[in-house]
Amino acid sequence: MAAKKLGVALVGLGYLSTYQIAKSFKHSKHCRLTAVVTGTPEKAKLWKKRYGLPDSHIYSYETFDQIVHNPDVDFLYLVLPNSMHAEFTIRAAKAGKHVLCEKPMANSVRECEAMIAACRKAKRKLAIAYRCQLQPHHLEARRLACEEVFGKIKVIEAGFAFTLNAKPQWRLEKELAGGGALMDVGIYALQACRYLTGEEPNSISAIEAKTAPAKFKEVDETINWVMSFPSGVTAYCTTSYNFDGINRFRAYAEKGWFEVDPAYGYGGVRAKRSDRKPMKFKATDQFAVQFDDFARCIVEDRESTVSGEEGLRDMRVIEAIYKSIRTGRTIKL
Ligand code: NAD
Repeated sequence: MAAKKLGVALVGLGYLSTYQIAKSFKHSKHCRLTAVVTGTPEKAKLWKKRYGLPDSHIYSYETFDQIVHNPDVDFLYLVLPNSMHAEFTIRAAKAGKHVLCEKPMANSVRECEAMIAACRKAKRKLAIAYRCQLQPHHLEARRLACEEVFGKIKVIEAGFAFTLNAKPQWRLEKELAGGGALMDVGIYALQACRYLTGEEPNSISAIEAKTAPAKFKEVDETINWVMSFPSGVTAYCTTSYNFDGINRFRAYAEKGWFEVDPAYGYGGVRAKRSDRKPMKFKATDQFAVQFDDFARCIVEDRESTVSGEEGLRDMRVIEAIYKSIRTGRTIKL
């Protein structure tokens, strides 16, 4: 790995950037924060002071493209509302920068394809911030699945739900969010099913419930969906913006089960297996691990395991889930 840390520009200084990502640079071996992009002058002032950034390394959404001239920025970490991921990935690629983009990758399959094409054309790397794919409990669950330690998996139950508070925000607006709970947190459960099976689902059937239709006028509140995989695994999944408590997956195999519960938080992840053998791992700083992994991909010139293609595969399934809800039919993929 290069002696010098790679420079990262953080794009969008909202909740996740401020309260999770910023502090993770302290735990990063290969990356440092060198620039920020924000539309809010007060935030620019604060971040400049707090992280010792020069004026020349603070950008607005309008001056964003000037980042092309900044040699201290190796990659951009996009932490923006979902509808902005495609535009800023494409602009970043044109500015010659690699991109780590928050999940969900974008609002549609078409946008994901355009992002992949733009990065390919500019010969820049694109990765999606699927931090759980690098988390040790999840990696161990994948190993148990892949090595068939409990035999072949038959059924997976997976879900992620939380109560979205009432204040108006982009997550409730279809144009900015693309969708609701499914795009925001259901995607974690979907990911788990895909990486446990190592397959793409070939049949999807979904239903939606709205218990607060006024609040969730534009986006989905609660969705239950069933996916069948080519090897015969059936996955039962749940997501919601209107209750707490589900944050897990469990895989039932021929000779036992294993689970991660809670599964998808920044910390406190726990896992169990039916034979009671331990599944304990040291807590990691998931964001530092994630940007260090991307830095290694850049330096070693190899594709990320959480590449744009991985984000695109999720988006294909998400579109099928919405189609199943709209049509009342099972969707074959
Ligand atoms: P947030 O609302 O706290 O921050 C969004 C930022 O975008 C704000 O700084 C806001 O000023 C800026 N912004 C620019 N244009 C905007 C516009 N037109 N409308 C609204 N905001 C605008 O959101 P967040 O929770 O930080 O989420 C940002 C992204 O990160 C989303 O894609 C989300 O899915 C993802 N996310 C990922 C995780 C994770 O664990 N990986 C956790 C939370 C959020």
